[in-house]
Amino acid sequence: MYDVIIIGTGPAGLGAAFYLVENGIRSILMVDKSRLCTGGLRNDCKQNYTFPVGFPEDLWSREEADSLLEDVACHLEPRYEEHGNVEIFRKRAEKLGVKMLTVRQSHVGTDKSSALIRDLLAKLDSSGVEIRLSTEVSEVDWENSSVTIAGTGESLIFHNLIAAPGRAGYEWLQQIMDTMGVKYVDNVVDVGVRVEAREDNYPVVRDYYDPKFIFPDGVRTFCTNSGAAFVVQEKYQNYYSVNGHAMSREKKSTGLVNFAMLKTITLTDPVVSGHQFADALGQMAMRLSGGKPMMQRVGDFRMGKRSKASTFNDDLYDFAPTLKGATPGDISLAVPSKILRDIWRSMKMLDTIVPGILHPSSILYYPEIKTYANRPEFIDRHFRVKRNVFIAGDGAGTSRGITAAWASGIRAARGIVNG
Ligand SMILES: Cc1cc2nc3c(=O)[nH]c(=O)nc-3n(C[C@H](O)[C@H](O)[C@H](O)COP(=O)(O)OP(=O)(O)OC[C@H]3O[C@@H](n4cnc5c(N)ncnc54)[C@H](O)[C@@H]3O)c2cc1C
Repeated sequence: MYDVIIIGTGPAGLGAAFYLVENGIRSILMVDKSRLCTGGLRNDCKQNYTFPVGFPEDLWSREEADSLLEDVACHLEPRYEEHGNVEIFRKRAEKLGVKMLTVRQSHVGTDKSSALIRDLLAKLDSSGVEIRLSTEVSEVDWENSSVTIAGTGESLIFHNLIAAPGRAGYEWLQQIMDTMGVKYVDNVVDVGVRVEAREDNYPVVRDYYDPKFIFPDGVRTFCTNSGAAFVVQEKYQNYYSVNGHAMSREKKSTGLVNFAMLKTITLTDPVVSGHQFADALGQMAMRLSGGKPMMQRVGDFRMGKRSKASTFNDDLYDFAPTLKGATPGDISLAVPSKILRDIWRSMKMLDTIVPGILHPSSILYYPEIKTYANRPEFIDRHFRVKRNVFIAGDGAGTSRGITAAWASGIRAARGIVNG
């Protein structure tokens, strides 16, 4: 029996655990089905410390986010990236009706993040928190205040439960919310492309590590990587989505930069599941490109031509894609026209703000899809869904990034400490 069981050792789980320990709660169990948490703390680990980046504005005020971000920084000890001459880009953006957010950021890098996570877990361990990794919770029995461990069938009792399973745990979360009778919605999804370009053609990254441009029509830049940067594919149930990483500055630069251009889609009746929509788009892309993400040079896209393996490295197409195995093709066959139109319009604006990004060699990878969480019906501001059950972090839509997930964990833990 534990005072608190926390499912997930991602930033939301960690934020909750540290807050509970620091407020005198001793009997805490953290469970994670992975060897090391699987989200962004482990991959790339770019931390944003400026509201509203990562914070859904309907759930957070600037004051509350700012005060919790201080707490997050005390634990993650960020080394902030310096901003150079960004004013020129901001002014150009403003003229086009594009907003440029200047965000306090720090970047750990995929090669350094495991050490950071192990260090955080070791601190919790030495404070008496029990941590069970490679241990999956299969069921939550709310009426009997117990969780069941997959495989062994072991049953553990809690006084309070914080579920923070991240975005990848959305199906499992839906199941446990269904069994507890918690209502939720899932109608928002981000769809877009990942752009890979020579750093010389997107030099803004030398002044601003992850520049955040917000365009009209719900399009934004997201997750920019430079230095030792590369594009990856992530497996979802029926498709691959692309994503980007970068190693720490100690690693050799690829001379390339990658970032996503994403459009947010809010679905309404009768199609209300963002996850289903994402799955349909992802499957369509896989069918058109032999089960892999597709890629197209901007030069071909502009001419309305597909990219082919034989022409992919011609003349101006003068750098090799970092995502090996993506299929040269025609993304306009796969992306719904409303999404593509808005993204392309935004890219033209971006090319006016940072001239060069639409160089013919730049690559557009598709699909990059970010599903949102199942947004539960909370009964109080601590992300409580039942008297002693809290759901926080990206899985519950209370955050969309590392720092906000950590802050969400604190907010849930406060619900326990304050009763
Ligand atoms: C590849 C990648 C890169 C990213 N990069 C960044 C970045 O650089 N910066 C940024 O701000 N955000 C990034 N993100 C987003 C970031 O991961 C999330 O915002 C953040 O991690 C959410 O924290 P969380 O604690 O809610 O969930 P997570 O970090 O996803 O943690 C959830 C944990 O719960 C565990 N879990 C799930 N279900 C169960 C179960 N049934 N039993 C036991 N354990 C379970 C999972 O194994 C996982 O470790 C990235 C995401 C991905 C996928």
